[in-house]
Amino acid sequence: MPSTGHDGERIIRGIPVSSGVCQGKLLVLGRTFVQVPEITIGAEEIPQQIYRLEKALIATRLQLTEVQRKVSATMGDSDASIFEAHLLMIEDPMLMEETTRIVERKRCNIEAAFQQAADRYIVAMSAIDDELFRSRVADLKDVANRVINNLMGRQDQNCLSTLTEPCIIVSHDLAPSTTAQLDRHKVLGFATDIGSKTSHTAIMARSLQIPAAVGLKDASETLPSGQYALLDGYAGLLILNPTDATLFQYGQLIQKQANLQEKLQDLHNKPAVTLDGTPIVLSANIEQADEFEAVKACGAEGIGLFRTEYLYLNRETLPSEQEQYEAYHRTALAVKPQSVIIRTLDLGGDKFLSHINAPEMNSFFGWRAIRFCLREQVIFRTQLRAILRASVAGNIKMMYPMISGVEEMEQANALVEQYKAELRAEGIPFDENLEIGAMVEIPSAVITANALARRCRFFSIGTNDLIQYSMAVDRMNEKVAYLYEPTNPAIVRLIKMTVEAAERQGIWVGVCGEMAGDPVLTPLLLGLGVKELSASPGQVPQVKFLLRRLKMQEARELADFALNCESGAEILSRAQTLARNIAPGLFDNQ
Ligand code: PEP
Ligand code: MG
Repeated sequence: MPSTGHDGERIIRGIPVSSGVCQGKLLVLGRTFVQVPEITIGAEEIPQQIYRLEKALIATRLQLTEVQRKVSATMGDSDASIFEAHLLMIEDPMLMEETTRIVERKRCNIEAAFQQAADRYIVAMSAIDDELFRSRVADLKDVANRVINNLMGRQDQNCLSTLTEPCIIVSHDLAPSTTAQLDRHKVLGFATDIGSKTSHTAIMARSLQIPAAVGLKDASETLPSGQYALLDGYAGLLILNPTDATLFQYGQLIQKQANLQEKLQDLHNKPAVTLDGTPIVLSANIEQADEFEAVKACGAEGIGLFRTEYLYLNRETLPSEQEQYEAYHRTALAVKPQSVIIRTLDLGGDKFLSHINAPEMNSFFGWRAIRFCLREQVIFRTQLRAILRASVAGNIKMMYPMISGVEEMEQANALVEQYKAELRAEGIPFDENLEIGAMVEIPSAVITANALARRCRFFSIGTNDLIQYSMAVDRMNEKVAYLYEPTNPAIVRLIKMTVEAAERQGIWVGVCGEMAGDPVLTPLLLGLGVKELSASPGQVPQVKFLLRRLKMQEARELADFALNCESGAEILSRAQTLARNIAPGLFDNQ
C-alpha cells in the first residue's frame, strides 16, 4: 500500500534495483487490456465523454497510420496492409454506437463503456467459426487497447523510441524488445509493477546507469501520466508530489553521491588490485554491441559478458553472419588489447522473437539458450561462424549459456570444430586458439563441474540463474524476491565447488551475474577463489574502490566463515561489516 505523507506526498515502496535519484514527470505505459474502473458520471457530462472518445479514436488512427508508414518503408506494402484491418475497426460505427449506448444507459465514464463494448465485440468475434474472423480478434484487442491507452493518457510501449521530453517510465514490466529501442537520453528512470534485482528491467537499468525500482505492485494501473515524482533507486521508492522537505533531503543525498562519483572517477586508470597486491580481472557486462564507450569510461578491463540477444530483438529478420561479424569485430577492436567474452545466444527465459520462439508455460525452464541453439542449428551456425571470423581480432573469447551437462558442451564444441573446418576450407582466417568457456548457472553444471572443466578453458558463473534454479525462486517474481539470497550457504558452497573443480583442471573462474557488481559481496567472491568479476559499467568503479582497500587475507577469512555458517543473513551481515569497515564512503546511502 502506498503511504501518504504531508501535503499530498505519497510514497510507493518497491525493490531498489538500480541506484541513483531522479525526478520528473511520469510516463505511464499501458499494458494489455487492463480492466478499467467504472465511474458514475452526470447526464450533463455525456457529450464531453463522447467527445473524448472521438479524440482518442483520431489519435489512435494517427498512430496506426504512422506504424503502417514505418512498416511499409521497411518491409513493403503487403506487410503494411494488415493495418488496414486495424483502421477499419476504428471506423466501425457499431463499436461507436454500442459505446454511446452504454454511456447513456449506465451513465459511466467513456473508458469503461468503450471497454465493455469492445469486450462484447471480441466475444462475438471469437465465437464465429471462421479462421479469418478469429484471426481478427488479436487485432481488435490491440486496437481496443490503443484506444483505451489514449483515453487514459497512457502511452504504448513503442513510444519509447520517440520520446520528446525526459520522463520516468512507469510500466507493468518492460520487455527486452522495448528497452532495447528506448532513447536513453529521454528516460530518467524505470518504475515497474513486477520484477526483482535480476529481472531484465533491473539489469537494463543498471546497464543504462539510470535509477530504477521494481515490484511497485499496481503502480502502472493506478498512476496517471504527467504526475510529478521522485524516484529513489537506492531505497526503491517512488515519491509522488514530493514536498520541499523531501526534495531538500534528496538534494543532499545527490550531492553526496556526486562527491563519491568524483572520488570513483579518480580510479579510472588505476588497476584492479587488492591492497596486498593481488590483481583481479574486473570487466564489464554489455547488453548491446555499441556499449564499449561505457566500458572504457568506467575503467573496466574489457568485457566479461557480451549478451548477444539484443542483436536479434526488434526486427523481423535474423541478423546475418556479416552483420554479426561486424558487431563482434568492432567491439573487439574497440577494447583491444583487453578481451571480450561473447556469450552465444541466450534466447528464451524472458527474451522472445515472435517469429522463432514464444513465451512458454515455464520459460526459464524451457527452450532456452544452448538448448535452443543446439536445435536451431542454422541460427547457431550463423552466430558461431560470425564469432569465429571476428576472433581474428585476437582478443575474443566465447562462452555458452545454460550448460547443464557434458553432452551439451560436447555437442556445441563439435559444432564449433565443424565450422572451423568450413572456414579453413574457405580460406577465412580465425583465431585457432579461441578460448571457449561454459557459463555455470544450473546446479547440475556445478555438480558435474569436474567433467565440464575438462572440456573448456574457463567458467563464468551466472549467479542470476544459479540462484534462481538452486533456490527455486523465479527471478522475475517480486513476491518471492525475499528468497533470492546471494549469500545463502547453498550458493556459497556451489560457488566454492565450481572454483575447486576449475582449480583441479587448471582453468579460471569468473562471475558475470549481478553478484559481481555488488561491492558488499566482492570480498566473499574473491575469498572463494573467483579470479574475474564482470559487472554493469555503472557498478565497476565501486567494486574497484572496494577491492583496492581489501586484503586477500580478509577475503579468505570471510569465505571460510561463510563456508562454515548456516545462515545467509549472518553471512551477509559479516560481509557488510567488512565492506563498511574498509570502504565506509561507499555505503553512505544505505
Ligand atoms: C546470469 O544468469 O547470471 C547471467 C549473467 O545471465 P543472464 O542474466 O543474461 O541470464
Ligand atoms: Mg543466465
